[in-house]
Amino acid sequence: MIWNPSKECMSRDEMHALQGRRLQKLVSYVYHNVPFYRNKMQQMDIAPDDIRSIDDIVKLPFTTKQDLRDNYPYGLQAAPQSEIVRVHASSGTTGNPTIVGYTRKDIAVWQEAMARALTAYGVKREDTFSVSYGYGLFTGGLGVHYGVENIGATVIPTSTGNTEKHVRLLRDLKITGIACTPSYALYLAETLEKMGLGKDDISLRVGAFGAEPWTENMRKEIEERLGLKGYNIYGLSEIVGPGVSYECCKQNGSHICEDHYYPEIINPETLEQLPYGQQGELVFTTLTKEGMPVLRYRTKDLCTLMDGECECGRKTVRMGRIMGRSDDMLIIRGINVFPSQVESVILEMPEIEPQYMLVVDRINNLDTLQIQVEVRRDFFSGDMGSMLAMKKRLSDKIKSVLSIGAEIKLMEPGSIERSQGKSKHVIDKRSL
Ligand code: ADP
Ligand code: ZN
Repeated sequence: MIWNPSKECMSRDEMHALQGRRLQKLVSYVYHNVPFYRNKMQQMDIAPDDIRSIDDIVKLPFTTKQDLRDNYPYGLQAAPQSEIVRVHASSGTTGNPTIVGYTRKDIAVWQEAMARALTAYGVKREDTFSVSYGYGLFTGGLGVHYGVENIGATVIPTSTGNTEKHVRLLRDLKITGIACTPSYALYLAETLEKMGLGKDDISLRVGAFGAEPWTENMRKEIEERLGLKGYNIYGLSEIVGPGVSYECCKQNGSHICEDHYYPEIINPETLEQLPYGQQGELVFTTLTKEGMPVLRYRTKDLCTLMDGECECGRKTVRMGRIMGRSDDMLIIRGINVFPSQVESVILEMPEIEPQYMLVVDRINNLDTLQIQVEVRRDFFSGDMGSMLAMKKRLSDKIKSVLSIGAEIKLMEPGSIERSQGKSKHVIDKRSL
């Protein structure tokens, strides 16, 4: 099922024409309503009339999180305050939160984007759907909530916290769908098992997971333990929140709502636009937003864009998994390391729990990396030999994937802190 075939299956030519018209309108709107953009454009000697098609987007200035912070709280808002019906904030993973105001139309577009996503996951009116993202300033909870209502399914606003109660609700209400972070999905699986229950005691069929990077191996683990099919959902508050892109039944890249959120990939150093297929930094322009539209917003998320028709029938551009944020990239002894690389190794080892923490330090001017992992209860043994062998296996695999050695610290199950929202995988003592 496709929620809005007229947009999701639009021909590429029609889509480009639509995007071009919308971009022209947007540029003239921000030029006349946001001094920040007008000043930037004047400095670059561009006027709204210079934008004639979507390809002209490369002439426009970029917007960064720092620009949002410098103009805190409402400096980049284009609509008058009386038109704003809701305000959200980013989670503040990488610093102070940024504030985003939405008009009634922005909320309607967001509900449309979420309806496209949920329909792509196979969620229908008959489903009962648990929203276990945090409700509040974070966009996850309310964003998914209104999408579920929009398609007419039943929403259970479980939010986060009290996981045992959540498990009982899953069982008693025969909840069929869930949205949460992948790390919370694992925590839920753990709690289910601790309560002496298993996937056959619940009816979950579909999961929408996002808000943090996760790997294919993590998907397999969650699907297996909760007995559902897990789909990626991506979004960020500066653009709208969850629903910017979503996977379809093919689970091969996430379709972008590109009639509203226009994607580009750039080289983060030269800022040049890169062709499809090349990895770089993802950039979005909000083509239809009224409250706080952004021109070429640099997400700092690293991925690739894919064109070409998808077997599901949708023709919109897809984005690959997020490798990580450029902010998440650790440079250890000169080598680039992403936490997701470690995750993918750990999830391939059945004797290790899918939990980990990287502790980076600098001792005698040399960077050190310690990887803390938990040994699964069934594999925990007093036999030194077998524990050392396990440690060596992990350490060899890590070395081959990261190209640097790490000290492995084996811990008891449950010792690494679990997260209900976005998880934290790195302690960098060098920057403390
Ligand atoms: P913050 O930037 O403070 O975390 P948000 O709450 O708006 O603010 O989170 C958006 C960010 O979350 C994205 O830029 C991205 O880094 C991450 N994110 C969201 N969805 C996904 C996903 N499906 N996969 C990987 N990362 C994601
Ligand atoms: Zn598809």
